Amino acid sequence: MHESHKTFCRFCHVFCGLEVDVEDGRVVGVRGDRDNEVTRGYTCLKGRAEAERIHHPDRLTSPQRRDGDRWEPIPREAALDEVAERLGDIVARHGPDAVAVYTGCGGHRTSAGGPWFVRRFLQALGSTRMYTSFTIDSPSLAIAGKRFFGGPFPCNLLDVERAECAMFVGTNPARSHQLNIAQSSPSHRIAAAKRGGMKIIVLDPRRSDVARSADIHLQARPGEDATVLAAMVKVILDRGLQDQQYVDAYVSGVDALHAAVRGFDLDYAERRSGVPKQKIEDAAVTFATARSGGAVSGTGLHMAAHHNLATQLVMTLNGLCGRYDRPGGMARSEGALGHAFNEDSRPIATGTPPRSRIRGISGMPGLFGAYDELPTNTLADEILTPGEGQVRALIVNGGNPALVFAEARRVQKALETLELLVVIDLFRSATVAHADYVFAARHPFERPDVSKLMDTSYPFPFGHYTPGLVEGPEESIEEWQLFWGLARRLGLPLRVGKLTPEATPTTDEFLDEMYRHARVPLDELRKHPSGVAFGERTMQAGGVVPNMIGHEDKKFAAGHPALLEELAEVLAEQLPCDGAAADGFAFRMITYRMPEVYCTQGQNLPSLAKKRPYNPVLMNPAAMRELGVADGDSVWVENQHGRVEGIVEASGDVAAGTIAFAFGWGDPSDPRPAREKGSNVQALTCADQGYDRVTGLALQSAIPVNVRPSHQIGR
Ligand code: SF4
Repeated sequence: MHESHKTFCRFCHVFCGLEVDVEDGRVVGVRGDRDNEVTRGYTCLKGRAEAERIHHPDRLTSPQRRDGDRWEPIPREAALDEVAERLGDIVARHGPDAVAVYTGCGGHRTSAGGPWFVRRFLQALGSTRMYTSFTIDSPSLAIAGKRFFGGPFPCNLLDVERAECAMFVGTNPARSHQLNIAQSSPSHRIAAAKRGGMKIIVLDPRRSDVARSADIHLQARPGEDATVLAAMVKVILDRGLQDQQYVDAYVSGVDALHAAVRGFDLDYAERRSGVPKQKIEDAAVTFATARSGGAVSGTGLHMAAHHNLATQLVMTLNGLCGRYDRPGGMARSEGALGHAFNEDSRPIATGTPPRSRIRGISGMPGLFGAYDELPTNTLADEILTPGEGQVRALIVNGGNPALVFAEARRVQKALETLELLVVIDLFRSATVAHADYVFAARHPFERPDVSKLMDTSYPFPFGHYTPGLVEGPEESIEEWQLFWGLARRLGLPLRVGKLTPEATPTTDEFLDEMYRHARVPLDELRKHPSGVAFGERTMQAGGVVPNMIGHEDKKFAAGHPALLEELAEVLAEQLPCDGAAADGFAFRMITYRMPEVYCTQGQNLPSLAKKRPYNPVLMNPAAMRELGVADGDSVWVENQHGRVEGIVEASGDVAAGTIAFAFGWGDPSDPRPAREKGSNVQALTCADQGYDRVTGLALQSAIPVNVRPSHQIGR
């Protein structure tokens, strides 16, 4: 029997509307849903590959238990019994903080089993050990947000349709579908805005898709974003281009900021960043004199050195130029589901975040400040370091730490050291290789869901509910059911609305309780298979500033002491243009997103891997000639932390001293060569050297490296 269903894609966070063809219980076709008012039929190649993913022959269909080097299937309820017993024993011997949960990209994209619910599970257990992928690539949003806004701040959406000038810093919306430009088909939206006269400024060491369309591309040396941004702030303040009325009303510390950026004159910024001073000046003037607009940042910025400072400077540009909570600027959305969780299903309020035992690094508010979490970059050492609070059991909720955490070797050793490692995933990932139990996750098409992750990032108020479209494998399990089942067996005081773990609700009943106080009732969402917009189809502005600013004086803190201190630190550093030869590394390695994959997902799907089943080393043709390598040659990328084989690919998008290498590839336990499985870039990172002392983030972009043809040094 042939049926067509509407749903939304959850391969990545964008949640594009889909139409899915099903024949006799199998997904046979996936295309964009033109009736979805937000995404209007847009899909990318990953979403269209969902039929391959759901029916992939390697997909896990039942729980497995490790027996030495072998895996054996085990009934789901028996696996839950065994895991609960072992967790209970670990808690009895070592206390609840011995149990940690890491939620990765897969876990984030389930509204029932995402971090909002995991936080409640851990609270019921008594553990503070919550980790998510947010702290891998974006912790500076939490830190800079707290400093500048005084807490999580909702104006994170660029009103691109009404902006006169948009600035993209270390972000490429065409690839990332970055939340702060409100997702789908961003290239079309940016192109339309440009045709309407919007000016585009891009600060990125790579000529990315959005940089190609830029009026001004500031192609700075990797890691020098803060220098360029500070110089722009100086130009604006020197010339009095700030929105003085807005600044007087809502921004504090401007004099202190102005003094602190005095050293970032245009000559210095040019020498340090490699960007011609005229371009920096033009960018500052263009941004500040536009009547509307906004600056947004992405992971290219958030993963490099001085990420807290640079992120805060992006916020500062918006604050000085009066961009927050203004039409055509940085706006907010209430969403359909919003923050209105049921009393008993609300995540823990942010208060004093827990402290890690490692390197004195504190926890932080998570995504949008909805819960507290600890930095992932400390987790391996929390496992490896003996003493009270040592993590001995880890549940990985739809993630792949073995591939994406910094310093792969240390992470693998830590995973091996655990008393208990439990993973829920669709496939036997690199992390599963170290696990004791793996639960077979339901594919998104096999479970009901709501658009929680995107809720406040849609360009206008919008909500989407989807039923499950096809039956999942009988022994598969949803993420929330795993934690619910464990809570029942452990006797935890967990509650979601009126539900307690003694009950065995359906996912719909569970979602109903979780989102009982949603702005738009789930039953209303259920009536609209393509999702439903409510309210005006434009971004709202007004009413946020100053009401929701967290500082007591209700002003943005442009002169926050931490920002002033870090500006001074940057000025005290040796100039990279002087130091490149001195530090012995000829290249700076940046990271970027490949369109075929999302984090580590998609590498095993034939249609996505057909171009190349690996992450190439993008290198400038001139640098390749100098090294004597050609397209497709094998090279070694190395630094003091390790070395990794890569396959080189010519790209004029990076400068001669820069290489671009994507993260999340190259399972170390897979014996195949880099050309067949990709390269694990995390061999070049280090968790306890050169890390950020506030977020604990390892240097994950703008990493000093050398590159040699592999025939010169062999394997
Ligand atoms: S951008 Fe692609 S992967 Fe992401 S939700 Fe849309 S179709 Fe799916």
